[in-house]
Amino acid sequence: MDVMKENPGEVLDVVVVGGGPAGLTAGIYLARARMNALLIEKQSPGGAPALTERIENYPGFPEGISGYELVDRMRRQAEGFGLRIASFNPLRGLREEDEGGEVKVLDTEEGELRAYAAILATGMRPAKLGVPGEEEFHGRGVSYCATCDGAFFKDSVVAVVGGGNSAVEEALFLTRFARRVVIVHRRDRLRAGKILQERALSNPKMDFKWKKVVKEIRGDQKVTGLLLADVESGEEEELPVDGVFLYVGNLPNTEELRGAVDLDERGFILTDADLRTSMKGVFAAGDVRAGAVWQVAAAVGDGVRAALNAQFHVENLRGTAYI
Ligand code: NAP
Repeated sequence: MDVMKENPGEVLDVVVVGGGPAGLTAGIYLARARMNALLIEKQSPGGAPALTERIENYPGFPEGISGYELVDRMRRQAEGFGLRIASFNPLRGLREEDEGGEVKVLDTEEGELRAYAAILATGMRPAKLGVPGEEEFHGRGVSYCATCDGAFFKDSVVAVVGGGNSAVEEALFLTRFARRVVIVHRRDRLRAGKILQERALSNPKMDFKWKKVVKEIRGDQKVTGLLLADVESGEEEELPVDGVFLYVGNLPNTEELRGAVDLDERGFILTDADLRTSMKGVFAAGDVRAGAVWQVAAAVGDGVRAALNAQFHVENLRGTAYI
C-alpha cells in the first residue's frame, strides 16, 4: 500500500505504530469508530507472539492457540473493519509539527506521516547475552527463536539460557526435536510460572545446569559447546551442545523515540493511567510501556484503552466528542 502517494500532505486521525496484539487491538477499535487510522509495521503484523508456538493463557482458547494464528485472526478482524495496514520500516522519529501543536509528524524511511494522534505499540526484542561467540555463531547454532529454528536441531543436544517463562516454554518446545535440552540458569530455581516449572522438571528429556553462567559460545563452523562458570565458585566447565537458544530478557523498541517521549531508565515509555505519554496526543500500549506485565491479554487491554483515549483526543480537537 503506497500510503505516502495516496493523499500527500493528509493529516490522519491516528497512526498506530506496531502490529502486535496491542497495535492490532487499537486498530480494531479505531476502525470500528470510523477513525481515519493507519497502522504501520516493520515487517508483517504479529509482533513477538507470532513467533510463539502455542499460547495457553489467552482467555477463550481452552486448548491454547498458535501465536501466529491468534495475531493473524486479530489482523483479519482489524482489516475486516477497514483498518489500513502498511508494512514498511516505520519509525525514524516523532515530533510535533509546531511546538505544542496538534499535528504529530512521524518520520519514516518512505517519508513523513502526519496525524492528530499516535499510539506507540512497538514492543520489545530479545536481549543479547553479550559473550564471545554470540555474534559469530548467530544463525550457526545461536538462536533467539525456538519456533523458527527448533526443527533444525532434530536429535541434537541444545542448551537454553535463562529461567523465565520464555526460556522454559521454548525449552519444552525444543524437546519435540532435540534429544536433550539443557537449561542453563544463573540461579538454583526457575523464574517461570509454576505450571511451566512442573512440566520442565518432570520432562525426561530436560536437564538443568543450576547457578551457571555462559562465559563463551564455542564452535568451528557451527556451535560445538558452551563454556560455563559456576556463579559461586567461578569453576569452569565445558558443556558440549549443537545449539544454544538465548532467552535472557528483552529490550524495548524505543531507540527512535528517545528525546520525543519520556522513557524510564531501561528505555520503556512512561505513561499515565490513560496511557498518555509526555507528548500530547501520543499514547503507548503493550510491552513497550513502562509497567507492562508482558502478557498478550494485557497488551490487548492496553490497545483498547489507548484507542479509546486517542479517539477521544481527536474528537475533542474537532469538537465532536460525545461527552
Ligand atoms: P524474563 O522474565 O526477564 O527472564 C529472563 C531470564 O534470563 C531470567 O531468568 C534472568 O535471570 C535471565 N537472565 C537475564 N540476564 C541474564 C544474563 N546476563 N545471564 C544469564 N541469565 C540472564 O524474560 P522472558 O522470559 O523473555 O519473559 C519476558 C516477559 O514475558 C515476562 O514478564 C514473562 O512472564 C512474559 N512471558 C510470558 C509467557 C507466558 O505467560 N506463558 C511466555 C513468555 C513470556 P534471573 O531470573 O536471575 O533474573
